[in-house]
Amino acid sequence: MKIVMAAAECAPFAKAGGLADVMGALPKELSRLGHEIIVIIPKYSIISSEYTAEFILKETIEMSFKGQRHSFRVFEFEQAGVTYLFVEKDDYFKRDHIYGQSDDAERYAFFNRSVLEIIQQQQQQPDVIHVHDWHTAAILFLLKEDSRYASIKEMKSVLTIHNLQFQGQFSKKTFLENFEVDERFYDDGFVEWNGNYNSLKTGLSYADAITTVSPTYRDEILTDIYGEKLNRFLQKKEQDLVGILNGIDTEVYNPATDLFIEREFDALSIEGKQINKRAIQQKVGLPDRGDAPLLTMISRLAGQKGVDVLQKILPKLLTEEDVQFVLLGSGETQYELFFKKLAEDFPEKVAVYIGFDEKFAHLLYAGADIFLMPSHFEPCGLSQLISMQYGTVPVANKTGGLKDTVIEYNEQDKSGNGFLSNFLTNQPFDLALQRALSFYQQPEHWKTIKKNGMEGNYSWSRSAAEYAKLYEKLS
Ligand code: ADP
Repeated sequence: MKIVMAAAECAPFAKAGGLADVMGALPKELSRLGHEIIVIIPKYSIISSEYTAEFILKETIEMSFKGQRHSFRVFEFEQAGVTYLFVEKDDYFKRDHIYGQSDDAERYAFFNRSVLEIIQQQQQQPDVIHVHDWHTAAILFLLKEDSRYASIKEMKSVLTIHNLQFQGQFSKKTFLENFEVDERFYDDGFVEWNGNYNSLKTGLSYADAITTVSPTYRDEILTDIYGEKLNRFLQKKEQDLVGILNGIDTEVYNPATDLFIEREFDALSIEGKQINKRAIQQKVGLPDRGDAPLLTMISRLAGQKGVDVLQKILPKLLTEEDVQFVLLGSGETQYELFFKKLAEDFPEKVAVYIGFDEKFAHLLYAGADIFLMPSHFEPCGLSQLISMQYGTVPVANKTGGLKDTVIEYNEQDKSGNGFLSNFLTNQPFDLALQRALSFYQQPEHWKTIKKNGMEGNYSWSRSAAEYAKLYEKLS
């Protein structure tokens, strides 16, 4: 089949979080299964010249947008059997950051239209268009309702929800201006939600199939607790809603071949992990302590990720226990300040790096002992999978994809790969962490827990086959 995917992020070109990891891996795996895959993303100016130097100008397309003629260039890059197309429009994508701009609604509306213009230029129409999150969801509205795209209207569609919290909600005026459509489209119930234009809901209204990035998150978003006020609407779509667990790119995240880490290792030569731990301690200026457990967290610093939980427990833990903690992340100021203060208060135990650093992230995954993930909700979560792949034991809250992938260690039958809290049933995170720390002191058990994690299969092969099956069912 011929599949077109459109998204706002794609590793290794432009990454803010897990969406990029998925876009970097799933298309490659689908191509391996024999499908023709085209991935379309904006040509952000933050894309490294290492890649843009290889881009080939494919075409220049003219289109009408917001009542004016615009032209944009399309660049092509091929890798691992996947064709990547980049939409170049400097007015919108020559920015320091991927998101968080005041004109995001307009930027992605432009991108949405350009994706359909590109597809229309293709000689052979794709069988399926697969869009991801709010940024590309409204493509499905244009596809079905804008007569300019009548010739490709029959194409089947899939929308993946990577995070229901982000819905792309804007005013009615913004919607009408950006999409140049009749007002009746706003009022007919497909795009409006709670008095605003809602990009994600728009896509959900028009998608032939909807997927979430884990089976548990699929069930959770139908409830009041996790439904982000869209659960009643999603309940009507329950038949079209499927949970497919994310994998990780095992070529990018492989401790045996990773060039970003100090010493490669695998489950049989796990001593190499210790060398990475020392490399972290040296890099961040913490004492060279092989015996003290090294805790880490690599994350967007947002409410979702449970930083409030760490605010409550870390100061006490660091006072009482012989542990080290290294944070890599950025996000809300209140959380950044908390971690900076923590590093000041515990200079011998804590190091904090505010920012985004792919290379350092790999070293932390490789050298840390314990990965903290106290998320209040987690659609899938990739960090726990990467951690386990590198023999770093996750301590996580039992929600979404964390529930589907982290299994509490059982000392009787030596099964399990991590430790779980459950905020809904009052099983606190600090107790889960204490269990992890007590097993850390028991080397035989600890070795087994790490090994169980490293032997798990986190590759995309099974899930990519599930997506392929879904595409086949639709077309
Ligand atoms: P989310 O998509 O909600 O941010 P995921 O766990 O699905 O969370 O994916 C996060 C991805 O982003 C992982 O690959 C993680 O290593 C990476 N990441 C998050 N923050 C940083 C950072 N500050 N520096 C480098 N990588 C980061």
